[in-house]
Amino acid sequence: MSDGRDMNAGTGMNDGSPPRRVIGDDERVRAELVACGQKLLSRGLLTQTSGNLSVRVGDKVYITPSSLEYDHIGPGDIAVLNLDGSVSSCRTGVSPSSETPLHCLTYEVRPDVAAIVHTHSGYATTLAVLGLPIPAVHYMIAVLGVTEVPVAPYATYGTEQLARNVRDSFTAPARAVLLANHGMVAVGHSLKHAADAAESLEHLAGLYYRALLVGKPNVLSDAQMAEVINKYRAKVPAVATAAAAAMAPMAASTSEGSAFLPGPAGGTT
Ligand SMILES: [Zn+2]
Repeated sequence: MSDGRDMNAGTGMNDGSPPRRVIGDDERVRAELVACGQKLLSRGLLTQTSGNLSVRVGDKVYITPSSLEYDHIGPGDIAVLNLDGSVSSCRTGVSPSSETPLHCLTYEVRPDVAAIVHTHSGYATTLAVLGLPIPAVHYMIAVLGVTEVPVAPYATYGTEQLARNVRDSFTAPARAVLLANHGMVAVGHSLKHAADAAESLEHLAGLYYRALLVGKPNVLSDAQMAEVINKYRAKVPAVATAAAAAMAPMAASTSEGSAFLPGPAGGTT
C-alpha cells in the first residue's frame, strides 16, 4: 500500500477471474520515467540527484522523487501529483521533486506539453550561468521550436517565483529554456520527445560554447531560418509548425511586430 503503485492497480482484477496482465498507464509511465532517468544519467545530462522528469497523464503528473539518485530510483519511487501540485500518491519516505511548482505551472499553461525534463547539464548550464541566450548558430535549433533559446531570470530553486519565471520565458510552443544560474528545461508531447529536446539543447549549447571560445559565431539570419523551416514543413510538419508558430506569437507579443525573430531584446553580448 505504501509503495505508491496502488493508484491504478488491480481495479476489478481480484474477483477470481483469470488473471489479466494489463500494463496500464500507471505502470508504463513509471517505467518510462525510470528508464529515461537512467538514460539521461548515462549520457551525462543528469548527475545523481540533480534534475527531474515528469509526465502528465490526464489530470495527474508523474514526477521523479527528490534526493534519490537516478540509478537507484525504482518505479515505486515515482510520485503522483494532482495538477495543482498536491500529492495524489507517494511512497512513504519519498518526496516529490522540489521543482514540483515548475512542472505543474508549465502543464497548466502549456496544454501542448505532456512531459518535462529539467537538467543541470554542463554546457546548457554554463551558458545559463553566463546569462547567454542561444541564438541560431545551427539550423537544428528549429527542432526546439525557437530561433533563440531564452534564459529565464534567476530565482531560488523549487520556488513559485522560479516557476513563474520559466512560464514567462517559455512561450508556447517553444520546447526549451535556460534557467539562469541553474540549468535548463525541455518539454515535449511525450517523455522521449522532451528528452530528445534536452539532448538537442545540450548539443546546441556545446556548439555555441565552443564557438565562443574560438571567435564570434555566425548567427543564421531570419531568411536562412525561414528556409530551414520551410524544408521542415515538407518533411516534418509538426516540427515546422512548432518552429513557425514559435516566432509569430513572440513577435506579436513584442513591440517590434516582426513576423519573425523577436528582436534583440534578450541579446546580451
Ligand atoms: Zn534544478
